Amino acid sequence: MVLQIDLSAIKANWTALAAKAPSARTGAVVKADAYGLDALRVAPALYEAGARDFFVALAAEGQAIRPHLPGDARILVLSGHMAGAPLAGLIPVLNSAEQFFRDRAMRPGQPFAVQLDTGMNRLGLEPAEWAGIRTEALAANGGEGPVLVMSHLACADEDSPENARQLTAFREMTQGVTAPRSLSATGGILLGPNYQFDLTRPGVGLYGGMPFAEARPVVRLSLPVIQTRVVRTGEFVGYGASWRAERVSRVATVAAGYADGLHRALSRGGARLWAGDRPCPVIGRVSMDLITCDVTDLTDVPDALDILNERQGVDALAGAAGTIGYEVLTSLGRRYPRSYI
Ligand SMILES: *Cc1c(COP(=O)(O)O)cnc(C)c1O
Repeated sequence: MVLQIDLSAIKANWTALAAKAPSARTGAVVKADAYGLDALRVAPALYEAGARDFFVALAAEGQAIRPHLPGDARILVLSGHMAGAPLAGLIPVLNSAEQFFRDRAMRPGQPFAVQLDTGMNRLGLEPAEWAGIRTEALAANGGEGPVLVMSHLACADEDSPENARQLTAFREMTQGVTAPRSLSATGGILLGPNYQFDLTRPGVGLYGGMPFAEARPVVRLSLPVIQTRVVRTGEFVGYGASWRAERVSRVATVAAGYADGLHRALSRGGARLWAGDRPCPVIGRVSMDLITCDVTDLTDVPDALDILNERQGVDALAGAAGTIGYEVLTSLGRRYPRSYI
């Protein structure tokens, strides 16, 4: 069982997304351990590619990568200044008036960013709340103000009227603001120059996921075959006897399951394991440590079958499980030995 992570593909994806927004700086979102791929490896690789603005969800995540990045790398914490958060060397993205006042009381003179809510209603200052602190925020740190004023799009991966509405709201709320502005994650970058402002914040596209269709694949996951057997017509495979052989079949059992982030919902059908370029349908239920597949049509069964490769990427596997590529990535288990190229 080997999870192979292609750091050169991550760097190439960063460079490709940077080229889509040539007049903006391109940041890098490395929250949730760089979408499950190991922030301690991924963040320095992205620094090498040229990223200088890194985003994490929690201060603790920022502390983990801080020693692995040079001093000119900025690490912004999307959850902002929560009480007790270890923010030394990090920049909180302040999401409310409460966070703003806490931060100014505890970190006077230190850099901060601000998030505005433009319609998603998840994080950020609402228009009235922003109006209340705006003058003080823009005048903070001897008139320097925030290092970034940002917002986040709810529907950037779709052609939705909410995108233009949020863009208008962001423009209105940041009129007269001279601090650098940021609105777009991966999806927003692809909506075009109007959405790119001064800094972009791609995450999933770096890791080979949609909506960045041109992304180079980043992960390959190979699962060793533990055993194969012949199953007669009418016999079943796996828990619940949910699959029955309609022909004499050869079944391979591989060493990974839902405990490794290969969701049990993959049992719904449609997922495949791959012997090179030959697909082998997943059959029966995915169990905790094991997956079964139909290898009848292979002339010989290799020692290992791929569940993620260039033919079946994170989004294809996610589709088979009824979820999104983000969740497949961040679920990838800790039991796999990882190899980085
Ligand atoms: C997760 C996140 C991103 C990155 O989003 P992707 O869709 O993965 O590119 C950017 N900005 C914020 C505020 C986020 O929460």
